[in-house]
Amino acid sequence: MHKFIATLSGAVFVATMGAMAAPADLAPRILPKPAAPGPSVQPYVKYPAGRLALTHVRLIDGTGAPAMSERMIVIADGKIVSVGSSSDAPPADATVLDLAGHTVLPGIVGMHDHMYYIGRPNLDSTGHSDEPVLAPQMTFTAPRLYLANGVTTLRTTGSVEPYTDLNLKRLIDKGTVPGPHMDVTGPYLEGADSFFVQMHELRDAKDARETVAYWAGQGATSFKAYMNITRAELKAAAEEAHKRGLKITGHLCAVSYPEAAALGIDNLEHGFYVNTQLDPGKKPDVCPNTVGLPTLVAMTPDSPVAAALIKDLVAHHVAVTSTLPVFEDTGRGLAPLRPAAMAVLSPQAREAYLFERDAIAKMSPAKAKDRATAYRNNIGLERRFVAAGGLLLAGPDPTGDGGVIPGFADLREVELLVDAGFTPEEAVKIATWNGAVYLGLQKRIGSVAAGKDADLLVVKGDPSHDIADIQNVELVFKDGVGYDSAALLESVRGRYGEY
Ligand SMILES: [Zn+2]
Repeated sequence: MHKFIATLSGAVFVATMGAMAAPADLAPRILPKPAAPGPSVQPYVKYPAGRLALTHVRLIDGTGAPAMSERMIVIADGKIVSVGSSSDAPPADATVLDLAGHTVLPGIVGMHDHMYYIGRPNLDSTGHSDEPVLAPQMTFTAPRLYLANGVTTLRTTGSVEPYTDLNLKRLIDKGTVPGPHMDVTGPYLEGADSFFVQMHELRDAKDARETVAYWAGQGATSFKAYMNITRAELKAAAEEAHKRGLKITGHLCAVSYPEAAALGIDNLEHGFYVNTQLDPGKKPDVCPNTVGLPTLVAMTPDSPVAAALIKDLVAHHVAVTSTLPVFEDTGRGLAPLRPAAMAVLSPQAREAYLFERDAIAKMSPAKAKDRATAYRNNIGLERRFVAAGGLLLAGPDPTGDGGVIPGFADLREVELLVDAGFTPEEAVKIATWNGAVYLGLQKRIGSVAAGKDADLLVVKGDPSHDIADIQNVELVFKDGVGYDSAALLESVRGRYGEY
């Protein structure tokens, strides 16, 4: 939900951090013992769980290590058994897949991966739409799009229909619906005067506490604060989540990044885009109309204020989620959508995307200049944050808006990280290993190594040479079951934006 940061009307506060319980072990909840794919999942299964040897592959293992060629990866019973050389003999009982010309990567851990679309009623070519903006659930298409594009674990990062998302997770885990492993985030923890009619507006800190407690009880495994939340509400929500060993992230505005770090937030969404600490006239607990743009335009990566902020975030162990695809349209120039991505859009979603592309092309030069500066500063800040030891996560914020589509955009995020100056291996690590570390699941997922879950992505080509090849997904393994990417995409052709 980003585009409204541009249209929304919408003092350093020091607090002692609440006592934090040890992080909960989320492995049993996010990565439960896999169930066999049921009849409605079978059509998308190309290789059932069994003993498989993937040979002659190039491997980008997710640790940031250089890509290696001529590898053989053996998987069995949903786990990676060994990672060795193609010149080794495959196990006698294994089905051998000769994947010469292909690359294997860890399944993507998408850390800002929504399950809804943003619908603007009666949108026309002038960009006008009727209120209220709505966020219909994409419970059918989104999980298939994620899995088809190699996202094997995701965080929903704000839920519009939390019961639906929780039930969807159960159906996926039961083998009834195809989709990734899910960290279901509770409903948006939003303050007063929300732009979105589907969000609850917190009344006060007590309400924040009760909301977190309730949804944690219902099964939410993470929380997300939203733009109008106040410091007192954020502090209460963070304490309540931490009591249960759960984490809280935020797409903030009324609370600045330094304030949020001091209040105990675990993660900040949208890179450095929504920090309001330098916005002119910023009042405590109020989201300014400028929603962080002046701060980012002013915060050049080599400025002292940037260095102080990064030091502060790293010291407080606050992770930052890079969501570049949702900003590339205005900040870098919109790349046309791939035909495979266009094909999954409903006619209305396609029309909305084309209207938006048109509107961006007509943006005023002054506005375009600020957006370009903001994008440049943001990628510089993200790189400095990583260089300073900060944990950078990746997730594209897919809502259809800006052509940001589940799954496709997770891979586009990796491409844009490379465009921002990371090596392909570093970019893959940010999109896999780093997410696993944040979730505390790095013993199970996030890299390709013996003993880990067989959550793998097989692409044609060599993304270590040309990162765009990461989009050429052919096969996705989740718990050792090989899913046919093309079949999953075919099943949602023309439906994203509808349901
Ligand atoms: Zn979002």
